[in-house]
Amino acid sequence: MAVMKFGGTSVGTAQAMQQAITIVAREKERATPLVVLSACSGITNKLIQIADAAGRSALDDAIALAADVRRHHLDLASVLVGDPARREELCSKIEEFVSRLEMLIKGIEIVGELTERTKDMFCSFGELLSTTVFAAAMKDQGYDVQWLDVRTVMITDSNFGFARPLNEVCEENVRRIIKPLLKRGTIVITQGYIGATKEGKTTTLGRGGSDFSAALLGAWLDDNSIQIWTDVDGVMTCDPRLVPEARSIRVMTFSEAAELAYLGAKVLHPDTIAPAVEKNIPVYVLNSWHPDAKGTIITNDPERLAGMSYKGLVKSIAVKKGQCIINIHSNRMLGRHGFMNELFGVFSRYGVSVEMISTSEVSVSLTVDEKSFSNDLIDDLKSFADVEIEHNVATVSVVGDNLRMSRGVAGRIFSDLKDVNIRMISQGASEINVGFVVEDKDVVTAVNNLHREFFSGLEAEGIFEVPAGRP
Ligand code: ADP
Ligand code: ASP
Ligand code: MG
Repeated sequence: MAVMKFGGTSVGTAQAMQQAITIVAREKERATPLVVLSACSGITNKLIQIADAAGRSALDDAIALAADVRRHHLDLASVLVGDPARREELCSKIEEFVSRLEMLIKGIEIVGELTERTKDMFCSFGELLSTTVFAAAMKDQGYDVQWLDVRTVMITDSNFGFARPLNEVCEENVRRIIKPLLKRGTIVITQGYIGATKEGKTTTLGRGGSDFSAALLGAWLDDNSIQIWTDVDGVMTCDPRLVPEARSIRVMTFSEAAELAYLGAKVLHPDTIAPAVEKNIPVYVLNSWHPDAKGTIITNDPERLAGMSYKGLVKSIAVKKGQCIINIHSNRMLGRHGFMNELFGVFSRYGVSVEMISTSEVSVSLTVDEKSFSNDLIDDLKSFADVEIEHNVATVSVVGDNLRMSRGVAGRIFSDLKDVNIRMISQGASEINVGFVVEDKDVVTAVNNLHREFFSGLEAEGIFEVPAGRP
């Protein structure tokens, strides 16, 4: 059995959805899959805009944006469902979701306050709608499918906006609800990203969380593969939007993939790997536009890794933009204890996660996501240290298991970046990454230089593949 997750661009248009249906149908010839979908691309962003508009009582804006959401899905229905009765049934389901969305908009407009909890309700419509269209389209093409509201299975805590599943309850739900359907050969189509509390309140797992949903469901099902279908040929040596020469990586270890995801490679949500590791299920990252391309296998299986031994140092380069550096300087650090405790206590109080860090005797430099930056936090830091801030920077990290045993990597990195102003340097404690910070404007130069340094001529290694359709 497989869990097949399709991301936003893989279900964003009628053509994309049809392509995904073809891929699911092909898998069904081997074994009945569980299909987990994202919202159509752009829809979650639009729902957040709708929620924000409702929260500031801009009713007309919110209703106009909801009309776009409605139109998008009705257009998909008209292309993808041929049978008139079935199309009508689908259209009335879409109308029902949209009228619930409009009711929510009006409710928030009256109350005049948007909370994380109500925001999650807004966001849930994207996945509910995409799966409803997809299931109707598959049914129209003669497949035995069942649409499932994942909120009956994915029971989470009530940390709205970043909910975590209650494992035991969910596993039991999967056994009771999903397994029997798959066993009898019915393809199950359900939502990524969303869940519900025990009391039935809608939650979300955080942006990009559909990958995480798929991995969790795969682990609870004890599947033999978790397939992440997206718009690139697997995990690549760098984001191909930044480095046109980026190559697909055929095989990676779980730790490399997890590290890369945490360090910013958007192709996988950072939490995807943990459930797969727990049950030792391989994760495949595949391109729905090139279903026959090999994509990437993420595994710890020595047999699979053996045929793919890799002598190069770096496997991939990850970039996280939209960061800022906070430089904290205090003579009180010198030879005293308790300073770091005080320092991190401030970040903890504000719930701000520290990304990269480097320290000296009297100073600490760290990066945080620009979105979590707050002047109050800085004021608190200033009460016991001198603080400087640099905005508009990005972290760049090179990742690879082989870095652990290698010397001279830092030298190679930095001699290659002579012309780039490096603002901070840090080596991950896992020893499989080396990271540094540059100004946003230097990212493209930095990563292309590094890519040339570490990957030119390595195609011969067999572990890298030129993505389909690229020279
Ligand atoms: P989906 O909607 O399918 O979840 P995402 O947009 O979340 O897709 O992730 C896919 C995107 O991740 C790619 O289009 C690519 O631009 C970006 N990306 C960033 N780093 C990498 C990498 N190392 N390998 C592949 N893609 C990457
Ligand atoms: N639709 C959600 C988002 O855009 C979840 C996902 O696509 O993984 O963040
Ligand atoms: Mg994604």
